[in-house]
Amino acid sequence: MIFHNPQGGPELACNECGCRWYDRQTNSCYECGTPVPQAEISDYLRVLRDFHVARGIVVNPPKA
Ligand SMILES: [Zn+2]
Repeated sequence: MIFHNPQGGPELACNECGCRWYDRQTNSCYECGTPVPQAEISDYLRVLRDFHVARGIVVNPPKA
């Protein structure tokens, strides 16, 4: 599941236990081991990108 922190930024959380940490190596929750679906990760990355665009945040700016 995706929720928004107090700063308005999206964060990816476990569907099962709601914990916000997952292992990027295995794409599973640190707390309960539930796998995070690839679709969920894609959704999260899209929402995060929208958030950055809305805030004018440039991630990894291209080298001039
Ligand atoms: Zn979990």
